[in-house]
Amino acid sequence: MRKINIFDTTLRDGEQSAGVNLNLQEKLEIARQLERLKVDIIEAGFPAASKGDFQSVKQIAETIKHSSVTGLSRSVQSDIDTAWEALKGGAEPRLHLFIATSPIHMAHKLRMTPEQVIEAAVSSVKYAKRYFPIVQWSAEDACRSELPFLAEIVAKVIEAGASVINIPDTVGYITPKEYGEIFDFLRKNVPNIEKISLSAHCHDDLGMAVANSLAAIEHGATQIEGTINGIGERAGNAALEEIAVALYIRKDYYKAETGLNLQEIKRTSNLVSKLTGMTLPANKAIVGKNAFAHESGIHQDGVLKEKTTYEIISPELVGVQSNSMVLGKHSGRHALRNRVVELGYTLSEAEINKLFVRFKELADKKKDITDDDLVALIFEEKFDLFKEFYQLSSIQVQYGTNQIPTAVVVLMDGQGNEIQEAATGAGSVESLYNTLERCFKTEVKLLDYRIESVSGGRDALAQVFVKVRVNEMETSGRGTAQDVLEASAKAYINAVNRVFMIEKMREENQKVVIKN
Ligand SMILES: [Zn+2]
Repeated sequence: MRKINIFDTTLRDGEQSAGVNLNLQEKLEIARQLERLKVDIIEAGFPAASKGDFQSVKQIAETIKHSSVTGLSRSVQSDIDTAWEALKGGAEPRLHLFIATSPIHMAHKLRMTPEQVIEAAVSSVKYAKRYFPIVQWSAEDACRSELPFLAEIVAKVIEAGASVINIPDTVGYITPKEYGEIFDFLRKNVPNIEKISLSAHCHDDLGMAVANSLAAIEHGATQIEGTINGIGERAGNAALEEIAVALYIRKDYYKAETGLNLQEIKRTSNLVSKLTGMTLPANKAIVGKNAFAHESGIHQDGVLKEKTTYEIISPELVGVQSNSMVLGKHSGRHALRNRVVELGYTLSEAEINKLFVRFKELADKKKDITDDDLVALIFEEKFDLFKEFYQLSSIQVQYGTNQIPTAVVVLMDGQGNEIQEAATGAGSVESLYNTLERCFKTEVKLLDYRIESVSGGRDALAQVFVKVRVNEMETSGRGTAQDVLEASAKAYINAVNRVFMIEKMREENQKVVIKN
C-alpha cells in the first residue's frame, strides 16, 4: 500500500468561498478537528494577506502538534519573511510557495517572461530554504502550462530545494486522463523527480475534482490537496472525505491509503458546514443526509436481509451515529462536560459553566436535548465573539392577518450604549430586519435567508443562516434560538458584526486577493 499524504486547505482555499469569513476561534476549532481527523498537512491561511490572516496562521501553528501547518506565499521575499514569522512556532514548519506558469497567466497577470518566472521561482525557493525545513512549490495554472516549460521549471525548483511539487488545476479545466498524462510527463522528463513528492490540487468547475485527484494518485502523486465538503473558490476544491473513502473502499484497485481517521469524517464535515454556513445537499457523497438512506422497497428489503446487497460503505465507517445520546433536565454538569468532550469540542471551564446555564434554560423548555442541540448551544457560546460590536437585548414583533407587521428592537453597541428603533415591513422578518438596519445606520442588503430546525419536534431550536451585503462586502451569519424571529435577528446581527470585524482588520492591513 502506498501512503498518500492529505493536505487540507479548508482554511485557505476553502475560506475563499464566496461569503465565507471565519474568525480566529472558528479557524482554530476547525484546525483542531482536522488534527483529530489526522490530516498530514493543514494549510492555515495566507500570512501576508492581512494582519488577521497572519494572526490566525500563527495561532494555529502554535496550537497544532500532530499535523504539519503550512501557509501560502507568493514568490517574493516579504511574503516569505511574514510566513516564517507566522509558522516558525509550528511542529513542522513548511512553506507553500506559488507562481503561475501558464502562458496566459505569465503574460496577462504576472507580465513576466518565462525566464523571469523561472528566476523568481528559483530564487524564492532558495530564500525560503534558509528558514523552512520543507518547501512546497506550486505551479499555478499548471494544467494550462506548456509541458516542456513545466518540466524545466520543476527541475530547477527541485534543484533549488523544493521537496514537494504541486500541480494545481487552478481553473478546474483538466480531465482525469489528461491530468494523469501531466504526472507521467513530469516523471519521465524531470531528472531529479524521484527525490520529491508530487501533489495534486483540483477544482471542481467541471465536476471532476475528485476523479482528477484519484487519477493523479494512479499516476504517481503521493499528496492530495483538497477541502472538507469540497468547499472553495467557485465550484470548490476536491472533497477530501470522498477521496479518502474511495481509497479505503477501493483499496483493491488503488492500492493506496491515507492516514486519516475515517470515523472523524462526519464530525469534521458537520463542523465545517455549520461554521461556514455552507449547507450540504442531502445527496452529497459520504456526508450528505441521504448518503446512507435506502428508499426503494427492493433496496430496503435487500439491506435488511444482508447489508452489503446495496450498501458499499457502512455509516459507522465515517462516524455517522445512528443512536445519538440524549440529555435532559436532570443531567448534571458532569454529564454535560463528558458529552462535550465526546462530541470533540474543546471548552474551558468557564465556557462549560456558561454552557451549563444555557443548557438548563433550554432543558426547561425542551424535553430531550440532543447532540445537535448541544452543538448549537456550543456554537452560540463559543463562536459568538463579536461582543465588541452589536448585541441583541430584546425584540418585540407584532403580526396579525390584517395588520402591518411592526418590530421594536433594543440593541447594545460595543461601547455599552443602548439603541432602540422601530419599523414596519411586509412580513415579520422584514419588519425586524428593517428595524435592525435602522439600528446599524448603514444599508444592509439581504442576499439569502434560510431557516431549519436543529432536531425534530415542535419544541426544536431554530437555526437561521443569512447572507448579507454591507458596504460592498458579502458575508454570512447564523443565529440559534427557540423562537424563529429571535434566531432571525441573531443571524442578521452576527452577519453585520462580521462585516465590521473584517473592516476593522482591513483598516489595519489591505487584504490581497489571491487565487491559487
Ligand atoms: Zn485552489
